[in-house]
Amino acid sequence: MKEWAKEFYHSKNWKDTRLAYLKAQHYLCERCGEPAKVVHHKHYLTKRNINNTDITLNWDNLEALCQDCHNKEHHAAADTRRYRFDADGNVIATTP
Ligand SMILES: [Zn+2]
Ligand SMILES: [Zn+2]
Repeated sequence: MKEWAKEFYHSKNWKDTRLAYLKAQHYLCERCGEPAKVVHHKHYLTKRNINNTDITLNWDNLEALCQDCHNKEHHAAADTRRYRFDADGNVIATTP
């Protein structure tokens, strides 16, 4: 977990939102139906949006995932998306 995200992940707002969202998805992974372990942010969290509740706590931006699917999501993202992160966690779009 990135240092700048710690405060958010430990906040009551996030814990409440995460739990309510998981409950609504019946604690099942939205991709494969296995038990969900994580609530993923479709629009990845960055240092810039970490205080934007439209991103961080918006159910439209959340996805319940099992560990496997979550790993794949982030692994695939690193491989195929044309984005990378600088040392501060800011997204850098790399030009093709
Ligand atoms: Zn899954
Ligand atoms: Zn994720």
